[in-house]
Amino acid sequence: MIRAVLFDMDETLLDRQASLRAFAAAQYSRHRDRLAGLSVDSFVERFIELDNNGALWKDEVYRRILDEHRIAAIDPQSLLAEYIAGFHCFCQPFPGLGEMAAELIADGRRLGLITNGLYPFQWRNFQALGVAHSFSAVLVSEKEGVRKPDPEIFRRALARLGVTADEAVFVGDNPEADIRGAQRVGMRTVYRPNRFWPECPLADAVCTDLHELPAILRGFEVGP
Ligand SMILES: [Mg+2]
Repeated sequence: MIRAVLFDMDETLLDRQASLRAFAAAQYSRHRDRLAGLSVDSFVERFIELDNNGALWKDEVYRRILDEHRIAAIDPQSLLAEYIAGFHCFCQPFPGLGEMAAELIADGRRLGLITNGLYPFQWRNFQALGVAHSFSAVLVSEKEGVRKPDPEIFRRALARLGVTADEAVFVGDNPEADIRGAQRVGMRTVYRPNRFWPECPLADAVCTDLHELPAILRGFEVGP
């Protein structure tokens, strides 16, 4: 019996690329007058490119965009402050998140989240997805003082859900932090492909659409 399902957030439940695009376009609109010479499309595309799936922190993203266009009328730190304060207003879930969460709970499973990132930034972003009431444990690495793939954060989440590793499945998009990390503590894994890491042969299953997850987990219980 799978008694708990643990999820990564960014690019697993949260469509981070779409959310970033929506945020960046709105931010551009607010500062259009001071971003002379830069179109909304070039601002958004450069923002996404430099972010590189979260590899570059936003203060550097903003500093580079402004430097590249010799824009001195805006301080990169003020753009960063807007991002930290307001990104959650643009956070969009992948299709089917609410239905999937309800179906997993109806199947008798508890839900948990482990996300690497800042607190309360990531907490607010998760609240914005509209399913937080269905989750029994939410762990944000900055608050926990430990981050994926450290086994400690997975063990801590399992303890809070009151389940053992073999009773839990981890769902994530990062082959190292999510999939290998969860496997090291003995959890089964479901991989969510994204364009940065298209394959992960280590995972026990692949889920391209959240609607499919309840059936994938029932398949684990039936066996191969
Ligand atoms: Mg992720």
